[in-house]
Parts: sequence; C-alpha cells; structure tokens
Amino acid sequence: MTKGKTFIISGPSGVGKSTVLRELFRDREDLYFSISATTRQPREGEVDGVHYHFIDVDRFRQMIQEDAFLEYAEYVGNFYGTPKRFVDEAMEQGKDVILDIELQGAIQVTSKRPEVVRIFIAPPSWEALEKRLVGRGTDSADKIQKRLVRAKVELQNANTYDYFVINDTVEQAVREINAIMLAEHCKPSDRMDILN
Ligand code: 5GP
Repeated sequence: MTKGKTFIISGPSGVGKSTVLRELFRDREDLYFSISATTRQPREGEVDGVHYHFIDVDRFRQMIQEDAFLEYAEYVGNFYGTPKRFVDEAMEQGKDVILDIELQGAIQVTSKRPEVVRIFIAPPSWEALEKRLVGRGTDSADKIQKRLVRAKVELQNANTYDYFVINDTVEQAVREINAIMLAEHCKPSDRMDILN
C-alpha cells in the first residue's frame, strides 16, 4: 500500500477555511484531519476532540518536552500544535493527512518533511477578509486587530506555498483542492513502483 501524503492548508483567520474543510471532508474516508492541540478557549459550538484538543499551557509545555508535536506555534496569544503520532499512523494506513496550520508551523513541517504539499487559501479581497473577521463576532476588537496584522504577514508569504486557492466560492475552492490532491498523486514518485 502506498503511504498517504501530507497536505498543509494555511490561510488567514476569517478566510473561511473551516467551511472549505468541512466540505472537503464530506464522503472522504481516505482523508485524515489532524486535530491540533491548543491553549485557546473553545468558541461556541467547538467540541473538544473534534475541532481541537483544548488543553492548558502546562499540558502544552509538557507535550513540547515529550517531543509530541510535529510542529507548534504561538498565534495571537495562544499556542497551537500538531500531535505527531496520529499524523504518522494515518499516513501508514495510506490516508492523506490535512494539517490546518498557520505559516510558522508550515515552515517547521517543511523543514522536517520537505515532501509536504502546501496549499494557501486566500480571500477574494482584503476587504472581504476584514468584513468576515468582524462579522463572525467570535473575537474581541483587540484580537481581531491582531488577527488582521497576522493575516497581512501570511498573505505576504503566500508565494512560498506550492498552490494558491482563492476562496471566492466554497465549491470552487473545494474543487481546486481536490484537483491539487489528485495531481499530487499522479507524480511518477507515487506510481513508478508498478514497474518493479
Ligand atoms: P483559530 O484560533 O482561528 O482556530 O486558529 C488560528 C490559526 O491557528 C489558524 O491560522 C489555524 O490554521 C492555526 N492553527 C490551528 N492549529 C494549528 C497547529 O496545530 N499548529 C499551527 N502552527 N497552527 C495551527
């Protein structure tokens, strides 16, 4: 069995990534979503063990000590990290893994695993992003401001990614991500073993 591939999906806060990912995962049992650990408080509707593993800072530090993370980063006052074990297990089972992580984490994973495929999801415009972040109503004005600053940095670094998807409509964004994943599986490195 061929091992699964890892796909990083990054995009500024408020770009609509969660909706795109929800659609992407519909009827795709061959895909594994890596559930991150975070010290952020759950938002309304977020479920522990589904959207994130919500843990406190002490536990997060302990996991760093135990080398349990593939990567981790600080983002607007909270820590976020990818537990390594589940990612590796899913890939061994032949599943593709999706990491929904920000830029710093993407850089760390790329340096450890250069074969990772990085997809950046961008908003149709800067105004659209601002409007969504404010309209979502999940963050304080101060946090929204900090997320916007961070969003600018992420957009400026989007050219370091392998692919750039614009979330104009969810359907088109999902179609493009599926196309990217399919194309990545058509690389000779994935298929030449039939000749052995
Ligand atoms: P949010 O608080 O909006 O759920 O996430 C904030 C940012 O953290 C998003 O850009 C999201 O992609 C990123 N993020 C979520 N989990 C992880 C993780 O495990 N590692 C890193 N580096 N970033 C993460």
